[in-house]
Amino acid sequence: MIYLDNAATTAVWPEVFEKMKPFFMEDFANPASIYAPARKARAAMEESRAIIAGSLSAAPEEIYFTSGGSESDNWVLKAVSSRAAEEGRKHIIVSSIEHPAILSACRYLAQHGFTVSYLPVRQDGVVDPEALKACIRPDTCLVSVMTANNESGAIQPVKELSRIAHESGALFHTDAVQAYGHIPIDVKDWDVDFLSASGHKFHGPKGVGFLYIRRGLTVGPLIHGGSQERNRRAGTSNVPGIVGMGEAARIAMRDMADNIAEETKLRDELIRRVEEEIPFARLTGTRKNRLPGNVHFCFRFVESETILILLDQKGICASGGSACATGAQEVSHVLTAMHVDPEYSHGALRMTLSARTTEEEIDTTVEALKEIIAKLRSMSPAYRTWQEQQQKTDS
Ligand SMILES: *Cc1c(COP(=O)(O)O)cnc(C)c1O
Repeated sequence: MIYLDNAATTAVWPEVFEKMKPFFMEDFANPASIYAPARKARAAMEESRAIIAGSLSAAPEEIYFTSGGSESDNWVLKAVSSRAAEEGRKHIIVSSIEHPAILSACRYLAQHGFTVSYLPVRQDGVVDPEALKACIRPDTCLVSVMTANNESGAIQPVKELSRIAHESGALFHTDAVQAYGHIPIDVKDWDVDFLSASGHKFHGPKGVGFLYIRRGLTVGPLIHGGSQERNRRAGTSNVPGIVGMGEAARIAMRDMADNIAEETKLRDELIRRVEEEIPFARLTGTRKNRLPGNVHFCFRFVESETILILLDQKGICASGGSACATGAQEVSHVLTAMHVDPEYSHGALRMTLSARTTEEEIDTTVEALKEIIAKLRSMSPAYRTWQEQQQKTDS
């Protein structure tokens, strides 16, 4: 199997799994209890919190463990908006390319009296800070723009956007689920108020994530109940998950420079070969401003879904855009926001690499893609019509 869908989820690293194991059957105590085994679980959890805090230039008490990216995103949107509503500030700004965790929560808030503005992106998939300046109002309570997009891989100007939000007195959140563990992040330098991340996007386990909440902000809980996470997130702590995510964070920080260099090299090789060897292929976004492991192309005269099925038959896992939209035949909201030509956007293909991806896998994938796309085009009426027209104009 060749796995090129690391934006959907990643394999747990062996060291991460080893580190988690004792917390299922030996050190399984509830970390909120008083006896020695509980103290051990608690210590392991706090070690994870310290690793994650250090990786972001945050303090440990600014890190709150959650069930993942979706919960962290929902928490920020719902908690900030309900508090701001008390002051009559009921305007929220998000980008039009956010993950469904943000966009669906915004639709929910819009049904409950909030006004939501959606920032456009330029053709390169990046939010223009000028658009935020034009859109922000005195009653804007929150601006949320992701650190890097899960489809195009485009990295957003978070530091600048956060500055503009703060100049207007709004809080700033970034969904860093795709970026955390893959590119350097500094919440102090970027001056963000909230940041979401998820364990399973950086070789940790699924069902665990965290939310950074800047010290001093008063934010109520999303999940009410016990006093876990300093009264802000109830529910018995997912100790194995939290320990695994901490270990994955430690490894990600240790290896980041090497991984960026290696993935960027393979990414650029894959981009170069597709552009040179497959006609009617358009790279989504720019060559430079993208996550180290992200390759996203749109192909004319083919459908995403059929490319994916044929790749799967060859043991290659890729995606049409995002895992969250599988089954939906429509063009993704990200490509629509980028104004990708509809002749191309139906043939979207995302291939996301990991630190374990090899040159050989890239080579096999390019050969498979060439064959699959040529075969599909030979069966495409639109392609034949185009060929016939070419022959007419040639003769
Ligand atoms: C995967 C993803 C999420 C959701 O995270 P989960 O942990 O799967 O809930 C949110 N935002 C982005 C950008 C993602 O890629």
